[in-house]
Amino acid sequence: TAGGDLLRVEALEAVYGDGVRALSRVDLTVREGEIVALAGSNGAGKTTLLRAVSHLLPASGGRIVAGRVSYAGRDVTRTRTDALVRDGLVGVLEGRHCFRSLSVEENMVAGGLGRGSGRSDLRADLQRIYALFPRLAQKRGLPAGLVSGGEQQMTAIGRALMGRPRLLVLDEPSMGLAPKVTDEIYAILVGLNRAEGLTLLVAEQNVALALRHAHRCVVLETGRSVLEGPARALRARDDIRRLYLGQG
Ligand code: ATP
Repeated sequence: TAGGDLLRVEALEAVYGDGVRALSRVDLTVREGEIVALAGSNGAGKTTLLRAVSHLLPASGGRIVAGRVSYAGRDVTRTRTDALVRDGLVGVLEGRHCFRSLSVEENMVAGGLGRGSGRSDLRADLQRIYALFPRLAQKRGLPAGLVSGGEQQMTAIGRALMGRPRLLVLDEPSMGLAPKVTDEIYAILVGLNRAEGLTLLVAEQNVALALRHAHRCVVLETGRSVLEGPARALRARDDIRRLYLGQG
């Protein structure tokens, strides 16, 4: 069901500041229509890779020193971030980053402004997101800072969806959330992938979760890709069950 390559990361090396190496020759491909999980423990380089993909590394004091990243055939490092967003590369990075004093709905509307569509388009997209996240419909008027962590994550995802992504990049949507809420969020993401072919690149510390929901999984360790393959094949491997799934 997957199409051509939408995102291509080749032999990427990235450093911070005076030369803290965060990524060493990482390769990653995301095909149109796929869910790809980027797994690995704290400090493995997941966030750095997502920043590099979204051209947000310079803003975090980092830089690419070798390799390349292309999205829809364009060199990401030569493209402005707002142009990438307009082209459908939309991310939820750097925590949940809701505007805490704005309402849930205002946060989402903010995500739709950049694409230059009219008021009725925004309305229709909001209704669509409320249908996906009924909890947000109930909380739409509350300041985002006062809703639960799961609802803040949903608001952040809803805001990203307002940008009509072609590739949605998410940094640890499960962080700090109860398993039940995490499952609710993944169910919606997987549903969007199935129904609309939304392509997803998701960083996930929890390898079991990554293997459960993604089509393909890449595991990073200290900035290197140590494992890559279809989730189904990885799930079936005894060594992986022992190492990551606490089985056997
Ligand atoms: P986490 O789950 O903790 O976010 P991660 O897999 O996303 O882990 P990164 O955040 O990409 O890992 O970190 C990779 C390495 O880069 C780590 O050694 C980290 O300390 C370092 N690092 C990350 N961000 C910065 C920064 N802004 N400045 C300097 N070093 C950084």
